[in-house]
Amino acid sequence: MTGPSEQLRRNWLEAQQRRERLEAEMHLLRQERGADAADDEHDPDGATLSGEWSRLEGLRVATAAELDDLVAAIARAEAGTYGVCIGCGRNIPAARLEARPAALRCVNCAAK
Ligand SMILES: [Zn+2]
Repeated sequence: MTGPSEQLRRNWLEAQQRRERLEAEMHLLRQERGADAADDEHDPDGATLSGEWSRLEGLRVATAAELDDLVAAIARAEAGTYGVCIGCGRNIPAARLEARPAALRCVNCAAK
């Protein structure tokens, strides 16, 4: 038997590792750009690199938001209120929790 809390902690760890990998990739990218970063416009690789940077930054921001949601979901699992919508107080359908374990709101409330 695994409770929602245990599953959420696993999800949190996965997201945490994903963020660490993203940050490592961004660190490498920054090193590759090196001192020429200011000369971006004249660098034929510049556009490619900043495109890659935006992609990584987007993923990093999404992963950070996911981590925040998971922390909140873990706290709710421990308080025994996991799966209850914080918007309307109704149970969040199991299918939605499966697709998005950190969901704090039902589809209706999330769309508001
Ligand atoms: Zn709701």
